[in-house]
Amino acid sequence: MKAVVLFSGGLDSTVLTYHLINQKAEVKLFSIDYGQRHQREISSSRMIAKLLNLNHSVLELPMIGEILGGSALTDTTIELPEGHYAEESMKKTVVPNRNMILLSLAAGHAISLNFDTVAYAAHAGDHTIYPDCRPEFADSMEKSLNLADWNEIKLYRPFVNLTKEELVRHGLELGVPFEKTWSCYAGGNLHCGRCGTCVERKEAFELVGIPDPTDYN
Ligand SMILES: [Zn+2]
Repeated sequence: MKAVVLFSGGLDSTVLTYHLINQKAEVKLFSIDYGQRHQREISSSRMIAKLLNLNHSVLELPMIGEILGGSALTDTTIELPEGHYAEESMKKTVVPNRNMILLSLAAGHAISLNFDTVAYAAHAGDHTIYPDCRPEFADSMEKSLNLADWNEIKLYRPFVNLTKEELVRHGLELGVPFEKTWSCYAGGNLHCGRCGTCVERKEAFELVGIPDPTDYN
């Protein structure tokens, strides 16, 4: 497999990268600056790419954030909700049509590299809040990608039915340096510990029963 990985430098896409390396896939990391308030994830992605000595592109498209308003992740005038992903308030962190846009760019890049796969790390914990992480979306996106170009592109999403807890367990087996991954949406230099993704991350480590090596504010 030759895979372009939609890579944020977060826990999920880092576990995915280690998973692919473990499967002897050829990996190209692909990160996108879409004007997210948590720019810190871009520097984490660079750090992890360097650590793994992997080819990595960061596509600078911060103006996309200006046309994808209405989300607390791209509009700093909207307060970032705190609490659990299961809460209705977390819908404020949905970036309109984000994965369709990002996966389209990754697929175009994969085709131009003569790669056969785009990999993304959507997992079961995302489904309640992010429609573009649902298995139905991934199935449909893969079909659309294969209608959009003569080249066949597989959309690899091995974690789509795994919980965050299972992802952490899998990452542990693979030796993922969790301390280098960045999850927080708040945009500081330390994890806030209160936003949806921080809460989810802390909960996953608690369920696994090991300490999260990340420093919280
Ligand atoms: Zn946070």
